[in-house]
Amino acid sequence: HNSGIINNETFRSTCSYCGVGCGITITLQPEGKITVEGDKDHPVNHGMLCSKGMNLHYTVNDTSDRLLYPTMRYSKNLPKKRVSWDQALDRTAAVFQSIIEKFGPESVAFYVSGQCLTEEYYLWNKLMKGFIKGNNIDTNSRLCMSSAVVGYKKTLGEDSVPVCYDDIELSDCLLIEGGNPAWCHPIIWRRVEAHKEANPDVKIICLDPRKTQTAASSDLHIALLPGTDVYFNNALGRELIANGFTDQEFIDKNTDGYKEYETEVFSKTTEEYAELCGVNPEDIRQTAQWIGRSKGFLSMWTMGLNQSAIGVQKNLSLISLSLITGKIGKPGNGPFSLTGQPNAMGGREVGGLSNMLASHRELSNPQHIAEMESFWGVSGISNKPGLSATEMIDALENGKLKAIWIVCTNPLVSLPNLNKVEKALKKAAFVVVQDISSNSDTLAFADVVLPAAAWAEKEGTMTNAERRVSLLQKAIEAPGEALPDSEIICRFAEKMGWGNSFRYSSPAEIYDEYAQSTVGTNIDCSGINYSLLKKGPVQWPYPKGSNSTSRLFENNAFYTPNKKAQLIPVSGVNTSEGTTKEFPLVLLTGRIRDQWHTQTKTAKVNRLNQHKKSPFLQLNPKDAAERKIKNGQLVSVKGKRGEVRVKVEITEEVRSGTCFMPMHWGKILQSDLARANNLTSDLVDPISKEPDFKFSAVQVSLYKKP
Ligand code: SF4
Repeated sequence: HNSGIINNETFRSTCSYCGVGCGITITLQPEGKITVEGDKDHPVNHGMLCSKGMNLHYTVNDTSDRLLYPTMRYSKNLPKKRVSWDQALDRTAAVFQSIIEKFGPESVAFYVSGQCLTEEYYLWNKLMKGFIKGNNIDTNSRLCMSSAVVGYKKTLGEDSVPVCYDDIELSDCLLIEGGNPAWCHPIIWRRVEAHKEANPDVKIICLDPRKTQTAASSDLHIALLPGTDVYFNNALGRELIANGFTDQEFIDKNTDGYKEYETEVFSKTTEEYAELCGVNPEDIRQTAQWIGRSKGFLSMWTMGLNQSAIGVQKNLSLISLSLITGKIGKPGNGPFSLTGQPNAMGGREVGGLSNMLASHRELSNPQHIAEMESFWGVSGISNKPGLSATEMIDALENGKLKAIWIVCTNPLVSLPNLNKVEKALKKAAFVVVQDISSNSDTLAFADVVLPAAAWAEKEGTMTNAERRVSLLQKAIEAPGEALPDSEIICRFAEKMGWGNSFRYSSPAEIYDEYAQSTVGTNIDCSGINYSLLKKGPVQWPYPKGSNSTSRLFENNAFYTPNKKAQLIPVSGVNTSEGTTKEFPLVLLTGRIRDQWHTQTKTAKVNRLNQHKKSPFLQLNPKDAAERKIKNGQLVSVKGKRGEVRVKVEITEEVRSGTCFMPMHWGKILQSDLARANNLTSDLVDPISKEPDFKFSAVQVSLYKKP
């Protein structure tokens, strides 16, 4: 099953790990192996790579964990056996057809991933929304940036990140909220650090309950209490207004809602806000001064804002700061949501969330539905939003959802409240899991397992956090019988009787169809094709005939019906589960520098495992002393939903009253008691449906053997 060389050149591709989207060059080596280097000509990374990127080649060179051929079981009690692709897909199609016939299109679902390529994402979406005619397709990006999507749409009228990485070097004040780019977006952080080094007057403020590496190298770290970000942002809004740092002309001409916003932020004094946030009021004032006096104000945020029961409010309150100061649409300025996964943005483009249609069209807009019906040559697209990620779990539990097809994601480690996820997947009538690695805990629940090709074994595109579309080129053949995801989808569609609409000669043709679907929308990328991308990545919008991308909102015309940005006042009362006497600590979860998600790729890279060898809980010295816990001891962490047992790391990095655990470890690679998501709350933001990963009530005690 070894990989074969398809040509003998060194060529360009894109790192498949994170939303930064660094360019790489792949060089073919003997016996189907590759090496990877940073692409010196790439506008994102200029040749740099982080620890994960530098070791990227191991993820495909080592095929010891790879799924090589389809397997299937005919009953839940039987073991899975090797079958042919035809057997696996015939059965999957037959089961899907019979469930849809009996219970309707809403009884089946696809749960896909921000690591799928745009072409694959587009096809999954087309298949579910245009042909199965349910809307139950959602993505693990729901867990990552759906609050930012809503934040942008509500304020700017469109899910459009109005900033690019080159703005980093043009800014002189960076506010980083709820993110640790030093570890999770390392190349962006290196650009920030280099900018600061060359320009010592640049101010970097980090807002995070934890003293992360980002916090440690910022000018000001403000360790606010978990869940209080909106108060903090409102306090900044108040200070900016009170000190005359607003741009009144911009506000009057280009925004709605200023009066209501002002009333909200003045409903508390800065001291009251500071007390609610557990911070020093002087730090709020200092931050407002730096923002107000800056020529280039960039805010950057990730999961600390998004993964929250009030994630949308947090986004709105932060974006408002750019609007009241008029610091948007200009070089070095704007609100910048950093995407976590490599193609979270591409998924958003093609409508990979259960409430969207292709090219940022809305299910709630009859005109948009009509456009996609005519484009796909179908009728009857449902306008009812499909299930979000956590709603799929609820629907499996209550029996409304019968079949689920899980692609390129490992919900048995990554979804909140894992005990519930386990029960739900056990109850599912039919589970298909499509993955590259046998190290996915989710495989244990699969009736059909489909082996997929990995990043260097197929061709396609991804869009990074700054809307830049890059090509990933095929370098080597996939091992065994593994197939590119797009081919699996098309073969399945054929079996379902929709072959005519799913026959493509190449991924380039799929991309061309998707690009054509964007014509007439705000994300028009009809000028992008593979020949162009082979010369280098480009940012959308990029209509036919373009030769460059201009700055979004340069002309202050936003995508709302009246072209004005919307200031939306939010009060920020946190609706997370509260702490109690029994569960007095707030658990924060997150990522560490050298692991990626559920480790199905990174765990096999020795060098990456050296950074942190096993799961751990960070606890403040005061909380540890109260519990008579010493560094390195085994602790039991319990919450309402489950327990974990890990070693404790006593550190000032977390403030008293909180603790932190990384989310990377699961059953196969460690144990079921190493999963942070045993503890996490499955509360979600009411609008974005993004889970509240950053606020779960727990107790911590020394583990004693029974
Ligand atoms: Fe890859 Fe992200 Fe590292 Fe760049 S920063 S090399 S995209 S993991």
